[in-house]
Amino acid sequence: MRWSQLFIPTLRDAPADAEAASHALLVRGGFIRQLHAGHYSLLPLGWRVHNKVANIVRQEMNAIGGQEFLLPTMHPASIWKRSGRWDTMGEIMFRLTDRRHNDNALGITHEEIFATVATELTSYKELPQLWYQIQTKFRDEARPKSGLLRVREFAMKDSYSFDIDTDGLDAQFDAHHGAYTRIFERLGLAAIPVEASSGAMGGKDSIEFMVPCPAGEDDVVHCPNCDYAGNVEKATSTLPPITDDAPPAAPERFPTPGVRTIAALEEMDGGAAADRQIKTMVMVIDGEIVLALLRGDHQLNLQKLIDSTGGIDIRPGTPEEAKEALGAMPGSLGAVGVADLRVVADEALKGRTNLTTGANEDDWHYRGVDIDRDIPVDQWADLREVAAGEACPRCGTPLAMLRCVEAGHIFKLGTLYAETFGVTVSDTDGNARPVVMGSYGIGIGRNMATIAETHHDDAGIVWPVAVAPYEVVITVLKLDDETLGAAEELYRGLRARGVDALLDDRDARAGVKFADAELIGIPYRLTVGPKALADGEVEWTSRATGETTRIAVDDAVGTVASTIEGEAGPMPRVPLG
Ligand SMILES: [Zn+2]
Repeated sequence: MRWSQLFIPTLRDAPADAEAASHALLVRGGFIRQLHAGHYSLLPLGWRVHNKVANIVRQEMNAIGGQEFLLPTMHPASIWKRSGRWDTMGEIMFRLTDRRHNDNALGITHEEIFATVATELTSYKELPQLWYQIQTKFRDEARPKSGLLRVREFAMKDSYSFDIDTDGLDAQFDAHHGAYTRIFERLGLAAIPVEASSGAMGGKDSIEFMVPCPAGEDDVVHCPNCDYAGNVEKATSTLPPITDDAPPAAPERFPTPGVRTIAALEEMDGGAAADRQIKTMVMVIDGEIVLALLRGDHQLNLQKLIDSTGGIDIRPGTPEEAKEALGAMPGSLGAVGVADLRVVADEALKGRTNLTTGANEDDWHYRGVDIDRDIPVDQWADLREVAAGEACPRCGTPLAMLRCVEAGHIFKLGTLYAETFGVTVSDTDGNARPVVMGSYGIGIGRNMATIAETHHDDAGIVWPVAVAPYEVVITVLKLDDETLGAAEELYRGLRARGVDALLDDRDARAGVKFADAELIGIPYRLTVGPKALADGEVEWTSRATGETTRIAVDDAVGTVASTIEGEAGPMPRVPLG
């Protein structure tokens, strides 16, 4: 392609609201333009990168036996009501009404829709099946931001596996784990597989592939020694043991005027260290008041509470609700002797004695509390959020906290959707059995942004060859017949070798051409100018290292083509024309 004929609207300045590097660089490089918050137009350069990312995903899905589909984006509400997710998805789901007053949803994901297709499976002999699509999803994010990292409309590869039993599911899950590992390697992303909460997907085992990067929105707990990793919604740590003194025969009430916080009680004369306090949180779970207890210096992780209680609609209670349920305002709450409310306690409190907690009367606390003796705990659960520096649960090394982008997610769904939608097949004995499903996703645009996020410098993006919009740019320094003729010959030679080459034949200064090529991140540049040509040479520059060498014109096509083939990855490239 000739740059002079292309639409590559590069900009000197980033949009004012661009906080993430990928957002700024993809806009400045002429890859994307915002239509409105969370919705982006992909311009030709952006669409080329998008397609290359999608093709890598497609190749790896096909390699594990995937069959490509394309399902509708708009779905009847009835399907989502059948699974119950019409209600549980809440505001994240876009809904619209058609002219017949029927409710419809714009798809966030496609478990329900693929399950309806899968009802045509009849026999175990047809299994396993692995179905996927690369298709547009909608998600009404509260705060769309950061360019393509958090949007409301995006292309996603979602796949669904169907097996006769959990052994089959395990094999498909492992195959996806392998395929995703290869995809992220080919995209140049150092993704860490981490244990995750299944959240609204209703699954069992799930693994997220997280890429460390400051623009991310997820915290991942990571052990630098043994590679233990977990999303904060799931990760655990080992706490140093605490020895408690023997408690008094019964808890003692004592006045704590004006003391409303863990820290204030810690500082008060006759108070207690935070790790000797019980923090009592009033939560409303599906309309029921529940008390969540944690050690005073620990933080509740809401997702852990959701996962351990099976609650769907969870929120902190208001001070008024706390007062009504327990008789005191937050700051003096406790669970000693509470009989009529459900109490869920964090495992770090197990076996503890001689603790201090609120007495359910403003400005009064109890000390000498023995949790087994004095508090009717209904459920012990892991509720606390791990903090950096705590000990790795596997090897004891201090844990680190990494900001990450979630680049992919794989779930074991089980038979939930198959039972709901009647996806049954006959087994070897002729009995009808629900199929066992898995669900697996990778956002295409988000991965594209994450690559830009992790591959850039002050001058612009540094695309890996495998996803670069063009693999090499031939920059012509002078538009006379001889120089342009030599450049065009190189261009034809490279195209014949299957290289995605771009000929910069614009009537512009060399500095402008170099700066644009660096901004849009083309991995290699051949510079063709009269001076080097006189010596029978051209300049060969690597975007990643900045290194420039002179090579013979006659060797240029062979050198460039073999370098790019070497870096492009294991599978045949799909040149985009
Ligand atoms: Zn470790």
